[in-house]
Amino acid sequence: MKERRARPRYKPGEIVPGTGVYKIYHNAHRLMHEAALIENTLFPKCRKCKHAVKFVLARPIQGKSVLPFRPTELLEEYEGGEEKSVKAG
Ligand SMILES: [Zn+2]
Repeated sequence: MKERRARPRYKPGEIVPGTGVYKIYHNAHRLMHEAALIENTLFPKCRKCKHAVKFVLARPIQGKSVLPFRPTELLEEYEGGEEKSVKAG
């Protein structure tokens, strides 16, 4: 039995599980909008509400003819997630 209503939500900095169009919910300053995101990249964060955005897969995209995510006035690339090899102490 499938749970059709189970829609996982993703946060900025998590890895995109599959290429597709994602609905992006902001913390009130902006209405929901959509953006195409590529598998194995990081979910971007919002310039305004930062980590308060949530991503929900709207529809998967087959094939690889998708333009990679580009930062917009609203969203910026998530940074600082991968480089933790340098430790002090
Ligand atoms: Zn926002």
